[in-house]
Amino acid sequence: MLELRLASRMSRLGTETAFEVLNRARALEKQGKEIIHLEIGEPDFDTPANVVEAGVDALRKGWTHYGPSAGLPELRQTIADYVGRTRKVPVSSDEVVVVPGGKPIIFFVILALIESGDEVLYPNPGFPIYESMVNYSVGKGIPIPLREERDFSVDVKELASLITDHTRLIILNSPHNPTGGILTKKDILDIAEAIGDRNIFVLSDEIYSRLIYDGEHFSIMSVPGFKERTILLDGFSKTYAMTGWRLGYGVMRADLASQIAKLVTNSNSCTASFTQMAGIEALRGDQSSVDKMSNEFRRRRDTFVAGLNKIKGFSCRMPKGAFYAFPNITRTGRYRGLGRNCFWSVWRRLSTLQCRQLARKPEPSLGADRRLGWKKSQVETRLAESPSRSNGESTRSFLRPPPARLGKPRLYKSSLSSVASLLLPRLTISAPRLV
Ligand code: PLP
Repeated sequence: MLELRLASRMSRLGTETAFEVLNRARALEKQGKEIIHLEIGEPDFDTPANVVEAGVDALRKGWTHYGPSAGLPELRQTIADYVGRTRKVPVSSDEVVVVPGGKPIIFFVILALIESGDEVLYPNPGFPIYESMVNYSVGKGIPIPLREERDFSVDVKELASLITDHTRLIILNSPHNPTGGILTKKDILDIAEAIGDRNIFVLSDEIYSRLIYDGEHFSIMSVPGFKERTILLDGFSKTYAMTGWRLGYGVMRADLASQIAKLVTNSNSCTASFTQMAGIEALRGDQSSVDKMSNEFRRRRDTFVAGLNKIKGFSCRMPKGAFYAFPNITRTGRYRGLGRNCFWSVWRRLSTLQCRQLARKPEPSLGADRRLGWKKSQVETRLAESPSRSNGESTRSFLRPPPARLGKPRLYKSSLSSVASLLLPRLTISAPRLV
């Protein structure tokens, strides 16, 4: 067979393992196994009906052709208005680049700005693509530790101490994946002060900006003088439950935006035209579905985190935004030697991470599969009802013995469900059953 000789740069590229777990979970689903999906970071809500209608209507009207690489002018203007309004800073449409999802902004911006030896500060734990792309671009990744005792916000003094003459980019993510931590206005102002007028860009990943439960979202783009050095990443995936549509955007100074558009021309050509038409409706139309989803997430968060904290050995800070919980499980004593299959190794990695985090060591980025999500109503239902149920196959599957006693890997569910199998026997939560 022909030898596959990959370019050496491929060895530097990481991945988001949540997608691998998702593939495996879907394959098991096809075999008839019951799967509760907690691996992938997406709302379990449907895209709002008005947005679906706008997409279908656009298809019927022939929005099925190539469009400009930077995005359809009408959507770019709509995004400029929206970002201008929400971040309280004037934005023009030539400062907007529409891309297939928020992720390409990370990819393109790092490709466009980072060269060998450039230092990039990124949150740790954090979205794994930051670290992957920094390595890919031969930059030097410098983790900004996010600590439990600070509710996973940034220690600005520590961040300031990490800035050097080689720092080219600082990545911020608030609300944060995977901890649910947020940066307050004061944090952001302090970070801006620490950066000062150095030649440093900020990639501000605000993809969860509308899913915030305590406090208000504040963008570094709103800080006077910071618009020209901020690349704001936002999109439709989380806010409008549109993950499969692939629609996101970056807002940045026009000279950089045109370079990012060039990368779009070289890769995707453009973002699908009919999804962009749906995006216009999402931003301009009725927003009540966003509020409804956000309120439901808040309710589930309260139930789920309260439940986690009742389990011996678990402690979980209250996430302030996004849809992730990040419990500390070091005191369970149940996390050693659990690397027997992918789910348990997920559990193990989570434990290890928390363990080391307490020891205040910088960590590798945390993959999306290594967190515990609280976004699924189904899981909450189980959490709520399991203690009182003594039979039923699906409940029993959660109540399997701890992994040390498992023979063949038998847990079909992703990270939270495997964790749930440990915690449910001891859990007592009274919450209304969801339908
Ligand atoms: N940034 C963060 C922090 C995320 O969690 C995600 C998705 O999980 C993205 C960016 C990418 O979002 P999209 O699906 O729109 O590419």
